[in-house]
Amino acid sequence: MKVKERYVFLECTKCRNRNYTTHKRLKAAYKLEKKKYCRFCREHVSHREKKL
Ligand SMILES: [Zn+2]
Repeated sequence: MKVKERYVFLECTKCRNRNYTTHKRLKAAYKLEKKKYCRFCREHVSHREKKL
């Protein structure tokens, strides 16, 4: 069986800029949240997934 994936944005929780795209499994129940570097805030901030 093929695993379906969908693309999501990772949005900076501070400045709301969508800095990264990633993909995750379609039926994954969890919400993605990752600490990544934001070039607008110039620091590492939590990035939350947003639908593409
Ligand atoms: Zn930011």
